[in-house]
Amino acid sequence: MRVSRRDFLRTAAALGAGAAVVPYAGVLEPVWGRESGPQRAFRPVVISSGNGLRAVEKAMEMIREGADALDAVIAGVNLVEDDPEDMTVGLGGLPNERGEVELDASVMHGPTHRAGAVAALKYIRNPSKVARLVMERTDHVLLVGEGALEFALMHGFKKENLLTEKARLAWVQWKETLSNRDDYLPPHGPEDRDIGEALREVIRYYGTITCLGLDLQGNISGVTTTSGLAFKIPGRVGDSPIIGAGLYVDNEVGAAGSTGRGEANLVNCSCVFIVEQMRAGKSPEEACLEACKRIVKNNKMRRLQDEEGRPNFNVRFYAINKAGQFGAAEIWRSGKFAVHDGTQARLLDCAYLYERRQSR
Ligand code: ASP
Repeated sequence: MRVSRRDFLRTAAALGAGAAVVPYAGVLEPVWGRESGPQRAFRPVVISSGNGLRAVEKAMEMIREGADALDAVIAGVNLVEDDPEDMTVGLGGLPNERGEVELDASVMHGPTHRAGAVAALKYIRNPSKVARLVMERTDHVLLVGEGALEFALMHGFKKENLLTEKARLAWVQWKETLSNRDDYLPPHGPEDRDIGEALREVIRYYGTITCLGLDLQGNISGVTTTSGLAFKIPGRVGDSPIIGAGLYVDNEVGAAGSTGRGEANLVNCSCVFIVEQMRAGKSPEEACLEACKRIVKNNKMRRLQDEEGRPNFNVRFYAINKAGQFGAAEIWRSGKFAVHDGTQARLLDCAYLYERRQSR
């Protein structure tokens, strides 16, 4: 992997250069929360993607009152699913190429090691709640499309038009300038780069919210919910509803969630990989960076690489462990994550592998 002088790794491990800088690895003390008696008190933590500041506040408020982490993180992301201004999730999410909002979501509950998910769900603004019901009221983990919608309606969810005026106008603009920016590809091989220029801007319009929490009982749960890739081929499913890719929880170890180019994550099963890295002793941030490096290594298609062979897209990971440590990392430096470590809700910079050159 070639890295120009102006690109650099914030941690040493990836290229073996310099000392690791791990500014936001979380801390272990003070332990607070429930009165400690014979039982251990856990220091709660909630982490989310950068659009989840309100989500971590809400989730932490509930956790402090004794809520199970799953109830808390779902309530947190519901605020964003309900927000018509967030165009990456739930109501107001950007639609597929037909102008239909199709949502993906998954939940995973640490203490029972159960999970539920829905994909390509239309008309229901809170796919995370439906995912939870799949977990609790079926023998399955994942329901998709029509079946997921029927299941949601059966449980009393209301059908509504999720396409806001703002999202509709963005979709119309995309259609009007479609040219060669759709997602269909002619047959091509690993060395082909500019395939009709399709997917040149693969970082366009991704967005999701993931939220992971450790509660006062020491239990860990997580949720990931999204409208997915904007203007996608109808039926396209990303990583968010796929357990192990867009979300994974192991109650003894920790949890991981992801945002960004789902296709890259699907072929790397990154969230289960991150949890296993933490089990092997890596901090949450180190484990997230390992997942980024794995994507870089496995990204073999030229059309998905820049001139220096690096991914021309971004993926971002978020993780917490059983000790209440947290971290986030992405391939390209671009953003922040939200965290509430029991003291306050904050937005912090993600660790990263590469930094884009500043254009003059
Ligand atoms: N990961 C989501 C997907 O690929 C999108 C995103 O996070 O931006 O569907």
